[in-house]
Amino acid sequence: AARVCHFKLVLLGDTAVGKSCLVVRFVRDEFFEFQEPTIGAAFLTQSVATGAATVKFEIWDTAGQERYRSLAPMYYRGAAAAIVVYDITNKDSFNGAKSWVKELQRRGDPNAVIALAGNKADLQSKRKIDYQEAQQYAEENGIMHIETSAKNDTNVKSLFHEIGTYGLSI
Ligand code: GDP
Ligand code: MG
Repeated sequence: AARVCHFKLVLLGDTAVGKSCLVVRFVRDEFFEFQEPTIGAAFLTQSVATGAATVKFEIWDTAGQERYRSLAPMYYRGAAAAIVVYDITNKDSFNGAKSWVKELQRRGDPNAVIALAGNKADLQSKRKIDYQEAQQYAEENGIMHIETSAKNDTNVKSLFHEIGTYGLSI
């Protein structure tokens, strides 16, 4: 039988950037224009097959609100991977993502895989964050970067697949 690796993964980022939609797309292949706001955090699991093993993600989808921020360490502590999400149409959310990356690099597991996800890539005409700007930031900080659309199902599976593959290699 193939090897199964368990990966605790946390999603962090400002409210309404699409964290829950990314998870719901990945786990159930659904999308809702009126996704219910997350209270506290939600837990879901999904597996992906990579060449080396099956990766079973144990996903903590956190709420982005400031009043829950102090709870975040409970979710990122011991996590093998973190997806920090911003909305490509919202500059504040990119600044918020940077502060999450900083916090993870200071206080998270030093071996954790960090992926920066620029979501809502379907809204090209409203774009405020250039791909290149985010890519350069990611390179400077040694983290992965990918643009996604939970709505159009763009790069959602790739995001998790790349995290799994990279996580198994380190
Ligand atoms: P969260 O607070 O980060 O969990 O954000 P949600 O997943 O609840 O999504 C917030 C809003 O953004 C909802 O109205 C979603 O339908 C919308 N949304 C999420 N992902 C996308 C996307 O990829 N494209 C577009 N156009 N809207 C999205
Ligand atoms: Mg949510």
